[in-house]
Amino acid sequence: MIRIFTDFDGTITRGDVGDALFERFGGETSLKAVAAYREGSLSAVGCFRAECAACGDVDEGQLAGFLDSRAIDGSFTEFVGWCRERGFPLTILSDGMDAYISHILGRHGLAGVEYRANHLELVPAETPGAVRFVPSFPYTDEECDRCACCKRNRMLTESAEEDIMVYIGEGYSDRCPARYADLVFAKDDLLRWCREHSVPCYEYASFGDISARIGKMLTADGRGRRPGLPRRRRAAVARRDLYLGG
Ligand SMILES: [Mg+2]
Repeated sequence: MIRIFTDFDGTITRGDVGDALFERFGGETSLKAVAAYREGSLSAVGCFRAECAACGDVDEGQLAGFLDSRAIDGSFTEFVGWCRERGFPLTILSDGMDAYISHILGRHGLAGVEYRANHLELVPAETPGAVRFVPSFPYTDEECDRCACCKRNRMLTESAEEDIMVYIGEGYSDRCPARYADLVFAKDDLLRWCREHSVPCYEYASFGDISARIGKMLTADGRGRRPGLPRRRRAAVARRDLYLGG
């Protein structure tokens, strides 16, 4: 079975919603946490906790207005339908926060799309009409603190050995799962990184490019795969090494 996993921020949305959210409501303190994370002195979980604390009391109306103004790749909606018609499970894997993912998906009529992400509880604050951000992290990896939601572990846990894993992304947290997927679609930072590290990938600009490319690899009924569609050997070896080492 072909299973499709995709990043959210910057891949489905135009720009990184999480970064913009914490910068908008957490300001300079939030940016300092990100700088500490980038230089390696703060874990991803620690960074999110600091960013959420930096936001303090957030006005619900301002928050809704901010999220309502986020745009998505217009071809994603069609891509969701394309996957459904063919029976390809589609899962969003995000090292962002579920609260804004569900808001944005719902606003674009995509509430049924599965996602795995960090959890953000919007807890009523003492200020009337305001909430506080309380994060929790259900999908961390025991050994690596560079992401809070380990996309690689989710992808491998939710796939069967014989599945063809397709991964779509653009940024830092997509590098790790890209090493383990059979078919990688990359743009921006991820594309540059894949090229530098010889990770085979297809360049894409929109989700329309991805369905067109996968479509060419499918059999006439649009469901199976051509006998020649390869599993990426190096990804299979990386997965085996992970199972043996882990
Ligand atoms: Mg992203």
